[in-house]
Order: sequence, then C-alpha cells, then structure tokens
Amino acid sequence: MKKETFVTKEQLDEIIKDYPTPFHLYDEKGIRRNMQALRDAFSWNKGYKEYFAVKATPNPYLIDILREYGCGCDCSSYTELMLSEAVGATGDDIMFSSNDTPAEEFIYAEKLGAIINLDDITHIEFLEETIGYIPKTISCRYNPGGLFKISNDIMDNPGDSKYGMTTEQLFEAFKILKSKGAEEFGIHAFLASNTVTNEYYPMLAKILFEEAVRLQKETGVHIKFINLSGGIGIPYTPDQEPNDIRIIGDGVRRVYEEVLVPAGMGDVEIYTELGRFMLGPYGCLVTEAIHEKHTHKEYIGVDACAVNLMRPAMYGAYHHVTVMGREDCPCDHKYDVVGSLCENNDKFAIDRMLPKVEMGDILVIHDTGAHGFSMGYNYNGKLKSAELLLKEDGSAQLIRRAETPADYFATFDCFDIGKKLLNMR
Ligand SMILES: *Cc1c(COP(=O)(O)O)cnc(C)c1O
Repeated sequence: MKKETFVTKEQLDEIIKDYPTPFHLYDEKGIRRNMQALRDAFSWNKGYKEYFAVKATPNPYLIDILREYGCGCDCSSYTELMLSEAVGATGDDIMFSSNDTPAEEFIYAEKLGAIINLDDITHIEFLEETIGYIPKTISCRYNPGGLFKISNDIMDNPGDSKYGMTTEQLFEAFKILKSKGAEEFGIHAFLASNTVTNEYYPMLAKILFEEAVRLQKETGVHIKFINLSGGIGIPYTPDQEPNDIRIIGDGVRRVYEEVLVPAGMGDVEIYTELGRFMLGPYGCLVTEAIHEKHTHKEYIGVDACAVNLMRPAMYGAYHHVTVMGREDCPCDHKYDVVGSLCENNDKFAIDRMLPKVEMGDILVIHDTGAHGFSMGYNYNGKLKSAELLLKEDGSAQLIRRAETPADYFATFDCFDIGKKLLNMR
C-alpha cells in the first residue's frame, strides 16, 4: 500500500514560513477519527475506558483532544502524573501503571486518587508503608512468562520481560490485598508490543479472562476491570496491513461472551492503555535536506537528527520517508538519510530507495506521533524541536515551542557559569 502524508506540500510550505524545520506535526482530523473508531469498537462494553499512555506523546494539547472522548491517562512517573493533573484527569481518570516505583510517585498517585496498578507482589507492602493503607480499588500486573505466540509466530517474550507478577504471585497478591481491605480488583497485562494483527487483543483477553474467572472463584474477590493495556501496533512499512479496530473490538467481545458472561462476570469493565495506536500514524517529523554527500555511499543530510526521533537509531525501526512534491517520481536513488549527531547510528533510513533529492527539499518522516518526540534526548547538545498541530481547518497551531540554548543550559542556573551561558547568544 502507498503511504500518504496527511499534510500537503502547499500546507507545509505555508507552515514553514512561520516555523522553521525540523518540527513534529500532528493531524487533528486523523486523531479524532481514530479515537471515535476506538470508542465505537468497544461500545458493547458499558464500562469501557481508554487510558492514553502519556509516555507515548506527553503533550497536553493532544491529550485534551483525547479527553473530549472520555480518555483517561495512563501514567508511570511523577511528571506524567503532573501532566495528567494539569489537564484535569484525576481520580479514576488516572491509571498509574508504573514499575520499580519510587515512594514519592505512589504518594502523588494516591493524592490524586489514581487507580494504582501494582507491578510486583512486594509492592503491596511498599505501598502500604508508603501511603499508610491499601486502596479500595487496586490492580495487579500479570506476566504468565514463556513466549507469546499467535499461530506459530512469536510475538514477544514475556518470560524475558521485567514486568508483572507470576500466576502464583497474582493469586497470592489478590488474597493479601483482600485481607488488607481492597474491594475492587483489576488485572493488567502487556504481553506483546506493536502487534500488527487483529488477533493480539482477543488472544490476550482470553488469557486474562480465564485467569479472572479462576481468581474470582479461588479468592472470592470482585473483579471490576480487566486492562488490556497497550500493544496494538501500526503499519510502519508500506506492505503492512493496518489493524482494524472494529474487528479487534468484536474479537474481544466474543471472548468476553464466551468466558466472562457464563461465569457471571458480565459486569467486568474493559480498559485499554493504548499509546502507539492512538497517535502514531497521526504525527510526522518534517525536516529539510541540507547536504548531500557522495562517498562510499550516497547520503542525504537533513536538519533533524536522532534527538528528534530515536526509534531508527535505537531499534533499527523503519520509518517511511516521503520527499514532498516528488511523490510521483520514480524511487530510483538509493540513500542513507542521516542526521548530524557524531554517532553513526543517527540514520533515519538506510539504503532507502527514494526519488532524487535536491537540497532544500522537505522530507516527511512518517508515523512519529507516538514514541517519537517523547523519546528525544539532548546528545551532542542538540535541541528538541517544536510540536505543531495541523487543525481540522488546515491551519497550524504551535503546541510546544522548540528548545533554545537557554533550556539546554537551564540546569546550570545555580552556578556562575550558568549565568554566563544563559546570557550568551
Ligand atoms: C508503553 C505502555 C503502554 C502503551 O504502549 P503502546 O505500545 O504505545 O500501545 C501502555 N501501558 C503501559 C504500562 C506501558 O508501559
């Protein structure tokens, strides 16, 4: 399938007059359409709720859009809790799905009335000591171990992941939590990441629903919700078939009716903590070609670098690249598209077939709407870019300014050298 950009060259030419490249651009129309489709897909479940995984794209303006559709926030750090509070998501609008959790984060989560999702059985005692009691509503994260397979494909390796409790620990945790006053229970698991198949959620749901029936029978607790967490992926490459959220929602409904309803558990609420699926395709990194280099390979140097998008450097991830205005030209040139870091893995694309790129061309790097800007760092003293929202009317709104050297040096502000740096231009 051909991957299209959600923004036209004419629109970008206008936007670039006001905002220099590089920047991340988000597509309001796409975000809303996808959000509505997710809601529709799970409308069969009365208590359904999506908790947007804040780490994917921690921008309050984007979270505000999702909030209009009833989204809560899935947080796992102090500042994510702050963001959540700032957009008005408190109480059971927050799922605190953290791990290796510092005490002050549990304290803040409790203060906000968040639902706490415990990553480990030892966190029961830690939480009780930290906040002084066990909340009435509590959730536990499950990790059945082994490999997670669909048909014969290995999707992921839960047995090798640091998250969650074993089956035995989960049963034990529920008993302990109940004896300490918990009344409403949740079960959470995240067993495979970026799955581009409609079968992941229904398979995960079956594992969790069967576990829930056993837990309710054996421990006598009331299971209020089952949290399928994140993991629904997006097609980064042109040959991948996108997930169909309607089929996924329907698949989960079928397992629900097969496993939970006959067990008298037809009141269980389904929660999700999607990040990538919510925003991934609705963001892109816009960058300009500023150098070409002909040595042992052909290079195009752009004004963005891995600081703006780390996934290719970190995972060797594929991100599609469109050379704006040359969509209909043949892809008859093989390039490495690179950033300026003194780090050879700073390459957005390797041996990529593209149309001939001219200096000044605008390149759109696709699918950066989740785990894009947010994974950024400041290596080589490079600064993070702005974030812009392409509104439904086609205009662009700044939703985060670009970093300046003053931001980069701000943590020296308590020293004389800091005062000097902050006054330099
Ligand atoms: C990262 C994360 C998510 C979101 O994952 P996606 O792959 O973006 O859907 C959800 N829940 C938890 C606990 C996570 O760590």
